[in-house]
Formats: sequence, structure tokens, C-alpha cells
Amino acid sequence: MSECIFCKIIKGEIPSCRIYEDDLVYAFLDIGPINFGHTLVIPKEHHESSATIPEATAGRMFRIGSRIGVALKRELDYEAFNLHLADGTAAGQVVMHAHLHVIPRGVEDGFHWNWRQLRYGDGEAAAVAEKIVKRLAATVAGK
Ligand code: 5GP
Ligand code: ZN
Repeated sequence: MSECIFCKIIKGEIPSCRIYEDDLVYAFLDIGPINFGHTLVIPKEHHESSATIPEATAGRMFRIGSRIGVALKRELDYEAFNLHLADGTAAGQVVMHAHLHVIPRGVEDGFHWNWRQLRYGDGEAAAVAEKIVKRLAATVAGK
């Protein structure tokens, strides 16, 4: 994907503040951080969706993301971190190269998720779960 900005960042065609790099993943500071130190972990291979990232790479992204979160706590005095991934435009994905956000957090950092809690009606949860389980069985079997 020659026009993808994150592919260009991996190739060094667009400058970035590198945090970590290995054979599978690249991590760098987000240019518009929620808090300073906010880092993005991306697969070196171009994938628009997290769903097509090979298991080893996806595992590495999560592992490195967590370790960066711990480094942010220890070195920049944060109390916690969020791992966040937007998969698809409706979920808030703007850059179409899959990326895991590592967002350092403090109790009084002034940032809040607008997290609502709907309620299932009678039997609705079971019906929803049945559909997901059926589809998942087919896709996980296919790997
Ligand atoms: P999304 O909304 O797709 O989950 O997040 C995309 C993120 O990429 C945003 O947080 C945005 O600040 C960051 N971003 C977009 N363009 C650049 C760039 O050129 N360099 C860096 N370092 N971050 C970028
Ligand atoms: Zn890309």
C-alpha cells in the first residue's frame, strides 16, 4: 500500500518518534496524543483490519503494547493505561492500517470514555450469543 501513511512511516518516508521495532511490529508516538506518551503499535505488514493480522503478529502487538504501557507508567509516572483498537470507520478508525493505541492514563487526566450500558430484554442475550458463537466457530476453524 504505497499511499498508506503508516506504511510510509515504517519505511522511514515520513518521520516518526520510534519507540520499538522488530521483525513483525513497529511502535511510535501518536502525533495527536490523548496524553503525552500515547503510542501506536502497528504490524509491519499492511492490514486494514485487525482480523487479518497473523496470530504471531497480533500477539506481538498486544505483548509489546502492554510492555509499552508499563514503561509509560514507570518512566512517565502514569497510573494506568488503555489498549484501544478501532476496527472500521464506524468504530473511529481513521488511518486504514490496523493499529493498537497505548494510552497512558491518570485518575485525574480529564479524559473519559463515553461508555454506555444498555440492558438486554428477556432471552435477547442468549439469542445474540448464539449467533456470535455460530459465526465464530466457522471463522476460528478456518483460522
Ligand atoms: P484511529 O482514529 O485511526 O484509531 O487513530 C489514528 C491515529 O493516528 C490518531 O490518533 C492520529 O493522531 C495518529 N496519526 C495520524 N497521522 C499520523 C502521523 O502522520 N504520524 C503519527 N505519529 N501519528 C499519526
Ligand atoms: Zn499501511
